[in-house]
Amino acid sequence: ADVAHELRTPLSNIRGYLEAIRDQVMKPDAATIHSLNEEASLLSRLINELQELSLAEAGELKLVYQAEDVIELASQAVILWQPQLKSKDISLSLDLPDNLQLVSIDWQRVSQVIHNLLENAMAHTGRGGTITVAASKQGSWVEISVSDTGEGIPAQDLPNIFERFYRVDRSRARATGGSGLGLTIVRRLVEAHGGIITVQSELGKGSCFSFTLPIAE
Ligand code: ADP
Repeated sequence: ADVAHELRTPLSNIRGYLEAIRDQVMKPDAATIHSLNEEASLLSRLINELQELSLAEAGELKLVYQAEDVIELASQAVILWQPQLKSKDISLSLDLPDNLQLVSIDWQRVSQVIHNLLENAMAHTGRGGTITVAASKQGSWVEISVSDTGEGIPAQDLPNIFERFYRVDRSRARATGGSGLGLTIVRRLVEAHGGIITVQSELGKGSCFSFTLPIAE
């Protein structure tokens, strides 16, 4: 039922625009076409993410485990975000020790986790804020964290943040094109590696998402 609801929303918006154009209530100008395109993009993002989530939940993601260097992984992820960080005047701080053991992971999937956490941190951090990516050894695990000095998450929402389609501010999240599936997929990917993901957050101060990955034998 929730999937049907989420898919129906952008579809009704698209139909709304098309009917308004047909009835000549709206002009098919650049702004209208832009809005139509935004709704269609959200729809395809939802479909792609739902497909990925259903594979993950069925345990059917084909993960290719190799011994990888977390420092290199985190550094590469961060480089891709430099232009956006700069344009939003957000500074990035890396806290990565240089003698960390290799971890047994699927490189592409863990990159996806870091990208998603960075994307969220950027979306919820204002100009002049800071995002920190840190890694440390915790027993037989390496813990990676992405923290921000952004808006934070209300305490009552924290227990639900990894649930599918859960968004703290639905109207704002929709405006930014969020599907509400990002963190659900992130959690599944971390769990597929045997790790766990946790969040700590304080309203008005920022959030910190941390996840663990197994050290390679
Ligand atoms: P979305 O597609 O809406 O970003 P997510 O599953 O990635 O969906 O995140 C769910 C909700 O968690 C977001 O809508 C947002 O309200 C909140 N959230 C996620 N990351 C952060 C963060 N770093 N700071 C504040 N709120 C966050």
